[in-house]
Amino acid sequence: MLETAGLTRAGKARMSNEKLERAATVLGEKLFLHCTQPECLAFAQASGREPVQGEPRNFCQRCGGSDNSRAVKDVLDACRQRGLSKLVIVGGSPTVRQELERLVPGELELRLVDGTKARPLDQAKADLQWGDVVLLWGATELHHKVSNQYQDSATGAWKRKLVHVPKRGIAQLLAGLLTHLQRGP
Ligand SMILES: [Zn+2]
Repeated sequence: MLETAGLTRAGKARMSNEKLERAATVLGEKLFLHCTQPECLAFAQASGREPVQGEPRNFCQRCGGSDNSRAVKDVLDACRQRGLSKLVIVGGSPTVRQELERLVPGELELRLVDGTKARPLDQAKADLQWGDVVLLWGATELHHKVSNQYQDSATGAWKRKLVHVPKRGIAQLLAGLLTHLQRGP
C-alpha cells in the first residue's frame, strides 16, 4: 500500500518524519485494526477497509482493547458453562451500575443493589435466594451494615453463593467473579 502511494519502495527500511505522517494517513484509510474478539473482527469486516489484527489489543479501533467488554465476555462464557444466569451485585456507584447494565447482555440477569441504603433482612435473604451468585463489592460504595446483612444471612448452601471482591473497577469486579467461578464450589 505504501509503495502504491509512492511513500516507499522495495528494499527501503527507513522513512522520513514527513512521510511517516502521510503513511499513517494512507494506512488509516485502507486498514481497520481489530483485536481477537469476534465482534471486533465482524465490525472490521463490515468497515469497508481491510481488517488487520492489531497487537497489542488496545490498537483495536472498535473496543480499544477495553478490559470491561472482554471481562464481561469471559464471565458470560463461564456462567453459561455452569448454568448460572442470575447475578446480584451489592455496592458500586450509580454510574458504575448503569455501565454494568449497559455492558452485560440480557442472558445474564442482574440485580444491582445500592450498598449505601439499608437493605431489609427479608430483602437480603430474597436476593440470596434469587441469585446464583451474590457479589459483595467492597472498596466501593458499600456500607458494612449492608454487607453484614448478607454475610449474616448467607448460611448453609447460600454461603457458597457469596463472593467478596474488595477491588474497585468493573474489570476487577468481573475478574474476581471469574476467579470464583473457575475455582468452583
Ligand atoms: Zn476489539
